[in-house]
Amino acid sequence: MTDAKDRVVKRMRELIELISHHDIKYYVEDNPEISDYEYDTLLRELRDLEEKHPELVLPDSPTQRVSGKALEEFPQVEHMVAMLSLDNCYSEDELKEFDARVRKLLGGEQVEYVVELKIDGLGVALMYEDGLFVRGATRGDGRIGEEVTQNIKTIKSIPLRLRPGGIRTAEVRGEVYMSKDGLRKLNREREKAGEPLFANPRNAAAGSIRQLDSKVAASRPLDIFLYTLSYSKDSMPGTHEGCLSLMRSSGLRTSPQTKRFERIEDVLGHIASWESKRDDLGYEIDGIVVKVNSLEQQRRLGYTAKNPRWAIAYKYPPKQMTTRLLGIDIQVGRTGTLTPVAVLEPVQVGGVTVTHATLHNEDEVKRKGLRIGDHVLIERAGEVIPQVVKPIVERRTGAEKEFRMPTSCPVCGSKAVREEGEAARRCINASCPAQVKERLRHFCSRDAMDIEGVGPALVDQLVGKGLVHDAADLYDLRKEQLLELEGVAERSSENILNAIRASMDREFSRVLFALGIRHVGRTTANDLAEAFRSMDKLMSAAREELSVVEGVGDVVAGAVRDFFDNSSNRRLIERLRKTGLSMQASGRAGGTLEGKVFLFTGELSSMTRSQAEEKVRELGGKVSPSVTKATDYVVVGRDPGSKLDKAKKMGKSILDENAFVRMTGGR
Ligand SMILES: [Zn+2]
Repeated sequence: MTDAKDRVVKRMRELIELISHHDIKYYVEDNPEISDYEYDTLLRELRDLEEKHPELVLPDSPTQRVSGKALEEFPQVEHMVAMLSLDNCYSEDELKEFDARVRKLLGGEQVEYVVELKIDGLGVALMYEDGLFVRGATRGDGRIGEEVTQNIKTIKSIPLRLRPGGIRTAEVRGEVYMSKDGLRKLNREREKAGEPLFANPRNAAAGSIRQLDSKVAASRPLDIFLYTLSYSKDSMPGTHEGCLSLMRSSGLRTSPQTKRFERIEDVLGHIASWESKRDDLGYEIDGIVVKVNSLEQQRRLGYTAKNPRWAIAYKYPPKQMTTRLLGIDIQVGRTGTLTPVAVLEPVQVGGVTVTHATLHNEDEVKRKGLRIGDHVLIERAGEVIPQVVKPIVERRTGAEKEFRMPTSCPVCGSKAVREEGEAARRCINASCPAQVKERLRHFCSRDAMDIEGVGPALVDQLVGKGLVHDAADLYDLRKEQLLELEGVAERSSENILNAIRASMDREFSRVLFALGIRHVGRTTANDLAEAFRSMDKLMSAAREELSVVEGVGDVVAGAVRDFFDNSSNRRLIERLRKTGLSMQASGRAGGTLEGKVFLFTGELSSMTRSQAEEKVRELGGKVSPSVTKATDYVVVGRDPGSKLDKAKKMGKSILDENAFVRMTGGR
């Protein structure tokens, strides 16, 4: 290697070490030492070096978190130490029995227990070699799992290189999970993109880690808590607690909610206190894990064929209830998907009245063996959508009816086709009123064109009376047509027309999202608009060009291509263009705020935060989430946070809401 190359590698090494140090500070310890701007500068320098010398890119570079290539399938890996599941218990008595068994096997010795929250996610094993992350695997059957290294790497709180001075060559285990907030957001996006929802955070985490395309995994809000040092080449601490603190100091994210007790009564008290507190956590837990602290005692206790004898999981009662399945309705979605929905006798589950539950698709109904009239067990995991778990077969009277998925659309009567490899049956009639209504509702919704006043009920009437067949028709509506509708008077008709007219100013990314392309949520629409800048460029982009956009994988690229290849979609876009909707990204160049960086803190009264941010971007400015050297203006609303103090200290220009409105051309 030449001297010049040597120098480049040395600098890359330095940058990677700095960045991984700051990643741990930020993602694991929530205690950043530098501003986002300074961090970005380090990252940019590394990226530049890597672009100039692609042959020198190092494997633990933070730029390698997302792999460019999707896998065909996951390789299998054999675990170094079997990943056994824990024995479960559901009552105080069972836990006391566990304690008695442990003490007896240890000949009456003093025992300490470490108690941890049982996160509801996906168990994984991470392998480090000489401090470098080399492999991640799912539990699988406990002996053989799937290698999901590429996807594990996308989780930012997992260090690609451990802090020096701690763990070097070792296997650690933990739980990949999705926060309640993350799941809600993801499901909202999926709903808008016409994709099936995840029933609970566990399914969402598992579904994300088992994606062959690591770009998809990277777009999912995943995090991890590590809870076991299962193997180490170097000597291990004497206790489980010691292992956890060694893991922590090595830069691995462990749960802060870990406690040590000497008496099982205190463990029980702790379990009881978490039963109510668990709803306040940002993530879902389904129980508490109790482990013997001493590793030497653990070794002596050993394993049964299936579980370790030194640990047990206390499971909280699930939020389940029984009720009756009164019927199964069929909903027709925006893309024609027929979804069976359970109609339930209203029942309270975890403080919420449940009347409906999604059944996903016909296979799901079949697999669960549901019959109409059945008593069924339903479950609400956290704040997520209710699920039908199973029928209570013992309570059948013989009067229950088998469910048959209709082979035609219940709304328009067209054939409903199930294509090979798809779980869903679809109404193939693009002008099916149910689909037309759903498409229009989506078009007018808040995150799309935000046409206030054109809600579901009005859309029903507009389509029902044949006044509107697609989004472009909305812009041709006349006052006298609206006045024919039920509940629409002089004044409200004017408001509706004004709202429709006002939507003509919406930025290009909203127009794109509003079209309702399958798999294209709000974020993806933003990414596409940013990458292609105009409808024409986007429409003529090949699938390969689409799939390289960040956040867009093969599936999304295919859906976008399919949408634009359809001639009636192209006609609709032409009509929307003639109407005057924005077909080009604005901002960036030439705006009055070009190059200016804004930061918002506190609540604004005349607009939402996202409207204000959009305004800045429209005028060519940028929005930053934290105060950095690059910040030009800090806009202060009601109840500003600590960012204001920081901004003042740094001598930034502070704007109140009025000043901001004037600056952006409002009154
Ligand atoms: Zn139909």
